[in-house]
Amino acid sequence: MNGLVSLIGAGPGNPELLTLLGKRRLEEADVIVYDRLVNPALLSPFVAEKIDVGKMPLHHKISQYQINDMLVDLSKQGKRVVRLKAGDPYVFGRGGEEGQYLSQHQIPFEVVPGLTSAIAGLAAAGIPITHRDFASSFHVITGHRKANGEELDWENIAHQEGTIVFLMGMAQLPNIAKQLVAHGMASDTPVAVVQWATHWKQRSISSDLANVVQTVEKMHISSPALIVVGGVVKLMGDLQPHRPLQGLHFLIPFKQDSKLFNALQDEGAAVNFFDRRVKKPLAFELPDFDAGGVLIVTDFAAFHYFQERLLTLGIDNRALANWKLVASNHIVKYRLQQDGLLADGLYDPKKLDYKRPIVFIGERLALSNYNVDVAAKADYLATYQSETINQNIDLNDFHGIVFPSSASVTDLYTGCTSEERELMSKMSCFAMGQTVANECQKLGLKNVIEVKPSYDNVIQTVKKVFAR
Ligand code: SAH
Repeated sequence: MNGLVSLIGAGPGNPELLTLLGKRRLEEADVIVYDRLVNPALLSPFVAEKIDVGKMPLHHKISQYQINDMLVDLSKQGKRVVRLKAGDPYVFGRGGEEGQYLSQHQIPFEVVPGLTSAIAGLAAAGIPITHRDFASSFHVITGHRKANGEELDWENIAHQEGTIVFLMGMAQLPNIAKQLVAHGMASDTPVAVVQWATHWKQRSISSDLANVVQTVEKMHISSPALIVVGGVVKLMGDLQPHRPLQGLHFLIPFKQDSKLFNALQDEGAAVNFFDRRVKKPLAFELPDFDAGGVLIVTDFAAFHYFQERLLTLGIDNRALANWKLVASNHIVKYRLQQDGLLADGLYDPKKLDYKRPIVFIGERLALSNYNVDVAAKADYLATYQSETINQNIDLNDFHGIVFPSSASVTDLYTGCTSEERELMSKMSCFAMGQTVANECQKLGLKNVIEVKPSYDNVIQTVKKVFAR
């Protein structure tokens, strides 16, 4: 059966500006085919295969025909496909053509709208696209000249009431400014240019038609950018958001942690997660519950899979009544407690009762750290296996790294090339807790800032370090 293709709008860039349906489809997808402007931070939580079809300009680019065929082929393989486009899929960017092609090939497809940069991108720079005092209409225009070199209808455009927004217009900016003035617009009409709206690297300038080309050159603003013409630009001063960590970009080399993400994002920072691991549950033999013994939980996720398995068999935690429960560390102990289980103690190989059956629960490879040298053989229950997935992340894009655990330090470090390690060693590394800081130092990271492990402390320390 052909798989559903969802044409999804990713919104202007900030990963939280995605619709709920878009998010669900990304979770369900087998494969995500995405464009150049899509923020990598939006993609990183999803485990689907990811295909980048929008290489940077001047590099080899996959043609629109190839993309269309790729969508059809993937669907015919029965895959659930997400075609992810910046902004709204039907605002420029050829989403409509892709839909037509799918429809002609009898491929089931849907469109999931997104926030177009033409509106949301302006708002992020403090420009409301309409305003009672300045504009009662808006016009979104492509600045990309047609293939046959035909000019836009400048006479018409220059005489519109309201805000004019040009997309894909940067290469044409001198012509746009010239034509608007030549067709009757005042040369002091306000103009703003907003680059990478809602991304961490967002920058904007305001000017007027006479000076905008110069200002843009001076400030080195380039594509992708929105060109906004009209009185609403005057509101930028009043409506521009000012948040303390605006413009800063942090990497958290760990699975998506919504609290840390929210805490940083609420202060204006942008965050990308880098979880190189996915957990694959494994089949395993259950211990003889009646025999009783010592159950050592080496990591909470592993215990979670164990419990899930019990539940599918109609058994719950009461099956462990004859067992002593031992946690490998305080965090595991705490997590067990949150689950309503009080551990009998913390793991100490010297204090184990070797006369009773011993069962270790953990991740497949990590369990080898618990080889106890005992006459009575211990049992090892690997309830899941952690697998590495490749995430392309450029460390140059980040101002700092927040490490929530020692594993996050080693995981990122081992996955880095020697140049990346060199770069990492100079970056501001916020280590949540002393153990994590020690791990950073052990690996030779030089700029390590130890932070008491709470979200609030992370925010306060980051603010201090980056205070301007
Ligand atoms: N479908 C998209 C537009 C695709 S055309 C949408 O609805 O937003 C690509 C153009 O969109 C770029 O050349 C640029 O002009 C604009 N654009 C998209 N995202 C942008 C962003 N985050 N910041 C500034 N311009 C953006």
